Amino acid sequence: MSPRPETLAVHNADTDSTSGAIVPPISLSTTFEYETTGEDHPPDQLIYTRWQNPNRAALEATLARLEGGAVAHAVSSGSAAMLTIFQALRPGDHIVSSDDMYFGIRVQLNEFFAPWGLETTYVDMSDLSAVRAAMRPTTKLVILESPTNPLIRLADIATIAEIAHEAGAALLVDNTVATPVAQHPIALGADIVVMSLTKYIAGHHDVLGGAIIFAEDDELAERVMRLVRIGGGVLSPMNCWLAARGLQSLSYRVRAHSENALQVACFLAEHPKIERVLYPHHPSHPQNDLALRQMSLGSGLMSILVSGGRQAAIDLVNRLELFTSATSFGGTHSLIEHRESIEEGSSTPANLLRVSIGLEHPADLIADLQQALA
Ligand code: PLP
Repeated sequence: MSPRPETLAVHNADTDSTSGAIVPPISLSTTFEYETTGEDHPPDQLIYTRWQNPNRAALEATLARLEGGAVAHAVSSGSAAMLTIFQALRPGDHIVSSDDMYFGIRVQLNEFFAPWGLETTYVDMSDLSAVRAAMRPTTKLVILESPTNPLIRLADIATIAEIAHEAGAALLVDNTVATPVAQHPIALGADIVVMSLTKYIAGHHDVLGGAIIFAEDDELAERVMRLVRIGGGVLSPMNCWLAARGLQSLSYRVRAHSENALQVACFLAEHPKIERVLYPHHPSHPQNDLALRQMSLGSGLMSILVSGGRQAAIDLVNRLELFTSATSFGGTHSLIEHRESIEEGSSTPANLLRVSIGLEHPADLIADLQQALA
């Protein structure tokens, strides 16, 4: 039997063989007794928790299966996941990156990795000829988010995978917003999937974590594995346990986030004080065809452009009662944020608010928006 994602996520750890507990214990021990034989140890032998830990191993195995990959690593944050990938490249390597991505990734590339000799060309990934034109003989990696944060632009993952592979480069997709419930980058040709577990995977605003999943256990995967285990930026047992618990309800939460978000998007798209709603599964999205083809659900993240400019957007945030003015997304609570004032070196429109639709009743969310926009 090949279990479906919902089943895989629930059964993400074996019943504890000593106690029979169906909820796995949290293995806080940093060190494990092992037999001294004088020989090399098998790669996944439990020795020291930086190298491997039962909670991390269970989470990584489930993430790899959900994304259709060969191997996964759970690290201390989504940002640490990207940092590790960049560290695994070599001076002189070239990256083609989406020009709209979580801003921290652009800061990593420009501030830390450009001086190390990694060159980056930024392109709009919805313009396939621009992606093709950006490729060089030294291009090792193409990186994209789809949908992007915060402009909610989509990239045609299958076509970009072909372009990357023709040029001898690997394609990395940040699947944080879409989640493995709604989008399968590896099945579309991606070589690496990165996710912030902080968002939908853990799902309750209480875990910082990240994951790297490789389609094949290839040379880059091996280098990243050594960087994770020897560098030590691993996810703690407690956070692995919490992320694995969050995973159990992921499919159902993402469905509810997506249904709520579509209702909110439909309300806002008709409101005279909203200039534009950016939500992949709303028919007004310029890439709605691609969204319906590539993502089975729209996710809970959207951006809105508020009529009246920057101050009108800020005033709207401050009039809301149910939505919390806070960063991040993917959790139970609905959050709203003026992105321009939080992003370093932002080119995000000054009237843009990023909205994370939570698991409250959508009618209550709409009522709150209605009073705040009145
Ligand atoms: N990827 C995306 C799409 C994000 O939005 C973020 C953070 O907001 C990250 C990665 C970084 O994740 P973390 O905050 O876990 O470092």
